[in-house]
Amino acid sequence: MTPAPQPLAPGATIGILGGGQLGRMLALAAVPLGFHIHIYAPEAESPAGEVAARITRGAYDDAAALTAFAAEVDAVTYEFENVPAACAALLAGLRQVRPGVKALDVAQDRVTEKSAMRAMGLGTAPFAKADDAGEARAAFESLGGGAAIVKTRRMGYDGKGQARVASADDAAAAVARFAAPCILEGLVSFEREISVVAARGIDGRIEAFEPAENTHKDGILHRSVVPAQLKPQVAAEAWRIAGTILEALDYVGVMGVELFLDRDGALLVNEIAPRVHNSGHWTMDACAVSQFEQHIRAVAGWPLKPAVRFADCEMENLIGDDVLRWAGIAAEPNACLHLYGKAEARPGRKMGHVNRLFPPSGRR
Ligand code: AMP
Repeated sequence: MTPAPQPLAPGATIGILGGGQLGRMLALAAVPLGFHIHIYAPEAESPAGEVAARITRGAYDDAAALTAFAAEVDAVTYEFENVPAACAALLAGLRQVRPGVKALDVAQDRVTEKSAMRAMGLGTAPFAKADDAGEARAAFESLGGGAAIVKTRRMGYDGKGQARVASADDAAAAVARFAAPCILEGLVSFEREISVVAARGIDGRIEAFEPAENTHKDGILHRSVVPAQLKPQVAAEAWRIAGTILEALDYVGVMGVELFLDRDGALLVNEIAPRVHNSGHWTMDACAVSQFEQHIRAVAGWPLKPAVRFADCEMENLIGDDVLRWAGIAAEPNACLHLYGKAEARPGRKMGHVNRLFPPSGRR
């Protein structure tokens, strides 16, 4: 029998690939548990690097730098899903990488991801692969010729690499413009968008936070609200879906599952993020454990905490110039401000977020 994996003791070092705000908030959650954080990122200065004990500046394809990094840490996690496969494989040969390589494989390619969801028996938007203009035309016809979205299969985020199309010609032109393998998805006429942020521990225990209701602006998450206005059976179904995915991928860590609630009341998986997720930032102030601490617990092999909510919460992302409102927000009595330490407020850049807390309404 293989011995049960030992939890990391306080004093151990957790390595994080990526230097963005998610890495920063993971680091800030790890320190109270006694862990040291070592950030690996290509940038000289980063939101996560600013709060970490150690930084390695390196490219994600620099095998020597990655090997040296692995030698200095006790476990590895990541804060973005586009970790190159070779980088993840190299590290996994040297240290425990959580979540594992399987989740990255599935999440990095929208066709693989949607096919995996279908294989798990879960609903998705209708889709077909459209790797070139010819395939895009055929894909458009195969979906019935209704309104659709072309998305690059890889590397898209915050609505980038996406185009709405209304004809086979449009679809072909969009794929030609992106000059990359794409997916064509039928446009879902959804009633609302929700997400579940859930964690699975090394013992297989799952703790899912309540579904949040999300609204986007210019393709970027703008607001997440809990409680979401959902029938209890829809919330239960959202949890079931998240649990199905975590188990099928033998996952350890926190995952974000984005869902459409369609007009027939069915939930369709839009995408999964094998990491902490923007729509789970409300957990930082409304729960006894944040998604960041929960992820660190899972990575360290610690028991998960119950994902219970103690307050109603509206999370607002501060994008670009929104951050200039910091002084007003800082004066709001029920607002918890989280800034990411980024110097320049470029349009579309996530500069921080604010969690506005309200007494619990009792809807759980
Ligand atoms: P994504 O990058 O896949 O999360 O897409 C960004 C946003 O575009 C989603 O949050 C939705 O608002 C919208 N969207 C993406 N795919 C679809 C779809 N198949 N049908 C309708 N809206 C979509």
